[in-house]
Amino acid sequence: MSGHIRAVIDTNALQHNFSVIRARAGAARVMAVVKANAYGHGLMATASALRAADAFGVARLEEGILLRRAGITQPIVLLEGVFDAQQLERAAEHRLDLVVHDALQIGLLERPQAGAQRFVLWIKIDTGMNRLGFPVAEFAAALERLRRLAPAARELRLLTHLACANERDDAVTREQLARFRHATRGLEYAVSIANSAGLFGAVPLQCDWVRPGVALYGASPFADCSAEDLGLRPVMTLESSVIAVRRVARGERVGYGGAWVAARDSVIAIVAAGYGDGLHRSLATGAPVLVGGRRAPLAGRVSMDMLAVDVSELGEVRIGTPALLWGPGLAVEEVARHAGTIPYELLCAVNQRVQLVVGRPEAG
Ligand SMILES: *Cc1c(COP(=O)(O)O)cnc(C)c1O
Repeated sequence: MSGHIRAVIDTNALQHNFSVIRARAGAARVMAVVKANAYGHGLMATASALRAADAFGVARLEEGILLRRAGITQPIVLLEGVFDAQQLERAAEHRLDLVVHDALQIGLLERPQAGAQRFVLWIKIDTGMNRLGFPVAEFAAALERLRRLAPAARELRLLTHLACANERDDAVTREQLARFRHATRGLEYAVSIANSAGLFGAVPLQCDWVRPGVALYGASPFADCSAEDLGLRPVMTLESSVIAVRRVARGERVGYGGAWVAARDSVIAIVAAGYGDGLHRSLATGAPVLVGGRRAPLAGRVSMDMLAVDVSELGEVRIGTPALLWGPGLAVEEVARHAGTIPYELLCAVNQRVQLVVGRPEAG
């Protein structure tokens, strides 16, 4: 269908990536991170395809509730916890587990009727990210308060988050690990450290749970190593089609601001995909687009509903010729570099105007 942008979600690739992660994780259990609408892939479609996941991680209470309402039965962890008594109650009602990263959250659990026995509590230790978690110096006191909850929490577990694993700054990762070990020495609780980069990085991280996000979706967390190198397959194909083709004489300009000037007589294909769909306007001239399966460079600025591609080298391109923004054959990581960002941001930005299609439907 012409002029129709869609994100096709390949659940086989998702399951393949999950098994690669499972193998890499060894004996550790896998918490599949599906926050932000499963990094743009559709929360429900993703979670229901990941039957083998041992748990799901989400950032917001509403995401957890949606998963429960859709019939997901695995444990679901609120990675930022809850912030008032009402949220705590709703979390309990929907059997959501909680990260506890601040004394305010302990206070909520200490209130009479808080019902801590309804939760697995994941205590977050800040080992150097300086974002969420109890500083190492305050962790022992926090743990002591949580141990004294009456009724007791169903289970206590420990986690921390790595700041530089994706930059392969192993010195920082090792330092965080050392702080974590120091803070948790002698404790017998289950622990979780690794995100995707931690899981595929060089520093061995022994833990009971891993928390992969981006790797599940078939994108690499590293700048210097592709998803393919890690054995992962892209889950999302963002595709649209050509809605106009024009010949542009040398010296003519294309698009807003006349930002692209034809250095020779050129053929320009207009593709129905723009920042109104969530594509970044920072995608620069020269960024690759697959038009009819062949690479061609973006020409000029991305507009709200469309973008222009210089297809002068491609031979026949017509209205209706498919255009792939990323997916198999064009890694989202590569596109992200042309937008000065990371694949996470491009994937999460795909918005509600883009139809999400699970599996590959009949052509037409
Ligand atoms: C988002 C998130 C993850 C997943 O990170 P990836 O880099 O996508 O693997 C893991 N843990 C926490 C606490 C997160 O917020």
